[in-house]
Amino acid sequence: MRYDYVVVGAGIAGITFAENISSELNEKVLIIEKRNHIGGNCYDEYNENGILIHKYGPHIFHTNNKRVWDYLSQFTEWNIYYHKVLGSIDGKFVPIPFNLNTLHELLPESLANRLENQLIQKFGYGCKIPILKLKQSSDKDLKFLADFIYEKVFLNYTTKQWGMKPEELDPEVTGRVPVYISRDNRYFQDKYQGLPKYGYTKMFEKMLNNKNIHIILNTDYKEIINKIEYDRLIYTGPIDYFFDYKYGKLPYRSLDFKFETYQLDQYQHVEHKYPNDYDFTRITEYKHMTGQKHEFTTIVKEYPKDYKLENDIPYYPIPQKENIVIYSKYKNEAEEQKNVIFIGRLAEYRYYNMDAVVEKVLFFLRGEKYGN
Ligand code: FAD
Ligand code: UDP
Repeated sequence: MRYDYVVVGAGIAGITFAENISSELNEKVLIIEKRNHIGGNCYDEYNENGILIHKYGPHIFHTNNKRVWDYLSQFTEWNIYYHKVLGSIDGKFVPIPFNLNTLHELLPESLANRLENQLIQKFGYGCKIPILKLKQSSDKDLKFLADFIYEKVFLNYTTKQWGMKPEELDPEVTGRVPVYISRDNRYFQDKYQGLPKYGYTKMFEKMLNNKNIHIILNTDYKEIINKIEYDRLIYTGPIDYFFDYKYGKLPYRSLDFKFETYQLDQYQHVEHKYPNDYDFTRITEYKHMTGQKHEFTTIVKEYPKDYKLENDIPYYPIPQKENIVIYSKYKNEAEEQKNVIFIGRLAEYRYYNMDAVVEKVLFFLRGEKYGN
């Protein structure tokens, strides 16, 4: 069999690509996936107790891009869901991202009132400020507040999650969870938020339900690629692996997930983050996000670690200058590859959310330029 395209990786990048080219262009696509399932890190499944879990950590879909939302909505209905998070700080559970409600819960009333007025005056109600920017405040009170938030919310969490301090990483990392001058306790403010009503895997199965798409699981593409006839390769795996690590290995951060199931209606209300206690960063309860009704409930604790053992999964590219230098070498070489397209979190070594990956693929297929 001859294929128009071979797609390496059945994550959301590879699946979106395959769906588009097979349905719109009527081209024949082979997907090669090394895991025993589709979906990449967005994969979900029912566990032995019948609870729908996200095997590789909690995934909440959120986007401001109507095109992305409408595109995926062809394949799923949604459970509208607004993610909320409480952080365990000084013995209390307080809203994260740090907002005006958090301020009032953690600091004495008169001080909190003064700081609230100053924040609103300086930045305006509704403004979001990355912590590393707030820390540059010259104003004495705002500097005090920035240092307080940095110490209580960011320093230990980031050290646990990444093995380094916030300022050692690209500011975009901590900038994902800015201080929010608002009373809105939602984790994200995107216009569209939710989870696929029947799960991510079901949505992906629908996207792949096309006679032009063939899928091979449990196979590293390097084992078979030389035996396949095809015109173009879409590569969504780690870029350094593609080039046999010729410029060195790119570092990634990995995680261990510890799942616990209880015979309880509810274990906790919303996601809990633990910046300053324990070895895990957060506890998430799946039923809370999926809306599933069941007499049991499953939670997951996330333990960050380096990516170094054979079975570790490279979950997070590490946005640091020295890694971007290595990545740029691979990227230059990738641009020379006429018949290969590198796309997705691993192939572009970028800390993409799901919607950004879909957006990138849709932009690419329509010949439009995406971001930088
Ligand atoms: P992946 O999902 O990594 O897919 C790549 C696929 O390629 C994998 O299936 C892999 O097995 C396969 N592959 C790799 N190498 C080979 C090879 N040699 N041969 C064959 N196959 C190969 N995003 C959100 O928008 N919201 C969230 O709430 C959210 N939560 C997250 C929580 C965690 C813990 C993590 C780690 C990520 C989260 N994300 C979230 C990000 C989201 O997972 C990514 O944006 C998305 O999975 C990227 O899709 P991808 O297809 O680029 O990569
Ligand atoms: N972060 C933090 N404390 C928090 C929440 C986030 O220090 O309570 C920092 C941390 O560096 C984290 C980053 O902000 O890795 C991005 O957080 P996000 O929730 O976006 O992480 P993800 O969901 O991608 O794991």
